[in-house]
Amino acid sequence: MQDYDLFVIGAGSGGVRCARIAAQNGARVGIAERRHWGGTCVNLGCVPKKLMVYAAETGRMIEDAPAFGWDVQRPSSFDWYGFLAAKDREIERLNGIYVSMLEKAGIDLYTGDARLLDANTLEIGPSVLAPEAPVQRIRAKKIVLATGSTPVRLDIPGAELAITSDELFHLPERPQKVAIIGSGYIGVEFAGILAGMGSQVDLFYRQPLPLRGFDEEVRAHLKELIDLHGITQHPGTTPVRLEDIGGGKAVRLVMDDGESYEVDAVIMATGRRAAVDSLGLEAVGVTMEKGHVVAGIDGKTNIPSIYAIGDIRDQYNLTPTAIAEGHMLAEQLFNPQGRTWSFETLPKAVFFSSPVGVVGLSEEEAAKDHDLVIYTSQFTPMRQTLPKRAGKVLMKLVVDRHSDVVLGAHMVGPDAPEIIQMLAIAVTAKLTKKQLDQTVALHPSTAEEFVTMRSPTRMVDRH
Ligand code: NDP
Repeated sequence: MQDYDLFVIGAGSGGVRCARIAAQNGARVGIAERRHWGGTCVNLGCVPKKLMVYAAETGRMIEDAPAFGWDVQRPSSFDWYGFLAAKDREIERLNGIYVSMLEKAGIDLYTGDARLLDANTLEIGPSVLAPEAPVQRIRAKKIVLATGSTPVRLDIPGAELAITSDELFHLPERPQKVAIIGSGYIGVEFAGILAGMGSQVDLFYRQPLPLRGFDEEVRAHLKELIDLHGITQHPGTTPVRLEDIGGGKAVRLVMDDGESYEVDAVIMATGRRAAVDSLGLEAVGVTMEKGHVVAGIDGKTNIPSIYAIGDIRDQYNLTPTAIAEGHMLAEQLFNPQGRTWSFETLPKAVFFSSPVGVVGLSEEEAAKDHDLVIYTSQFTPMRQTLPKRAGKVLMKLVVDRHSDVVLGAHMVGPDAPEIIQMLAIAVTAKLTKKQLDQTVALHPSTAEEFVTMRSPTRMVDRH
C-alpha cells in the first residue's frame, strides 16, 4: 500500500494545480484520473469550445474579406469531421503535456476510478480510460476531492434523446437544424458556434432574456445580437417532451406553449451537477447539500483529512477559480505564506460570436448597497464598418456615486473577454472613475472607450 502526504482525486484544472503546488512544496503526492488528463476544461469544455469559437469566427472573417479587398468566395461548407479531428489532435497533445507536467513534478499518476474507504484510505479500480487497471489501495494524510461536474438533462419524457455539451464535441456530423435548451453560458456559446458554422439554430429559454444573473442591460443587448446572428430565440418557453421521429436521427421537441419543432439534434444546456457518484462520500460521512460537497473556499469539509475544490463544491464553477482554490489549498497545507486571490471581482466571459465580458457588480447588484452613476456607450466598431456588419458594442461602467470607485465593468462585443481581463485589474484594485479618466486612450481601439466615457448616462439611487 502506497502512503502519501496528499492524494488528489481528479486531474482537472483544480486538481492538477493542487497536486503540482503541493509537490513543489515538498509533499509526497499522488493523483488519480478516470477519464481525461486535464479534466473538463481541456477535454470537454473551455479548450475545444474556444477552438470551435475560432472556427465559427473564421467563417465570418472570410465573409467579410471582400469588403477589405480580398478576392475570396463566401465559404460554402464547413468540414466538421476534419475540424473535430484537428481539435482532437490538439487535445491529445495537451493531455500529454498534463501527464508529463505531473510526472516532472514527481507526482505518482494513477489511471482509474477512485473511491474512499475511510477518511485516509482509498481504492483505485478500473475505469473507462483503464478498463484493465488493477485494484490498488492508497493511504494519504490528506485527500482532495477535485472531480468537477457533469452536464444535467431536464427530467422530461424523451430527455435521453437530447445530447449535452459532452456529446456535441464528438458528434459524427454537424446537426443542420438544432434546438438548444437553456440560455446560460453553454446554451449561448453553442448557439453562436453552431450558427457560425452554418446550422439553423433555435434557442429556447424560460426567462424573458438570456444569461440570467448578468446585468440586465447586458442581457437585453445580447438578446438583440443573438437575433442579428440569425438565431431564432424562444424566450419564456419550457420543454415538455422529446420524441424520436427518425430512428435516432431526428427529434421532435414539444414546448409548453404547444409549439413543436423537428430538428436533427436537441442540446440540453441546462446546468451541471457535482461529479460525486461512486466516490464513497456517504460511507465516509462527508457532508453534502443538494448533490454537492459542502466545503468553504479553503476546501475544508467536515472531515479534517478530506478537502474539496472546484465544481464539486458548486460555488464559482469556473476553471480559473478551481485553479486558484487548488493552489491556495496546497499552499495552505504545505507552505502557509502562500498566495491569495480576490474572488469578489471575478471576471467572467461568455464566448458568444459577440462575446460578453464582465467584472465586478451588475447595476442591479450594486444598487442594493450603493447610489450609482452609470456610464454606457454603444457604437459600431471600426472593424464592422466596411463589411457593413450590424451589431453595436455595449460598454458599461457601474460607479459608486460617493467614493467614485468603479464597482463593475461590462462589455458585449468583439474582444470583450480580452478587454475585461485587463480592466479586471482596475476593478480589483478598486480604482476610481477619475483614475480611469486620467488614463490616456489608446487610439484607435475599442477598449479606449472605457477611459473616454465622460457623461453619465443616468443616476441610480440605492434600492
Ligand atoms: P447555466 O447554469 O449557466 O445555465 C443553465 C440554463 O438552463 C439556464 O438558462 C437555465 O434557466 C436553464 N434551466 C435550468 N433548469 C431548467 C429547467 N428545469 N427548465 C428550463 N430551463 C432550465 O448552465 P450551463 O449548462 O450553461 O453551464 C454550466 C456551468 O458551466 C456554468 O454555470 C458555468 O459556470 C460553466 N461554464 C462556464 C463557461 C465560461 O466561463 N465561459 C462556459 C461554459 C460553462 P434559468 O436561467 O431560468 O435558470
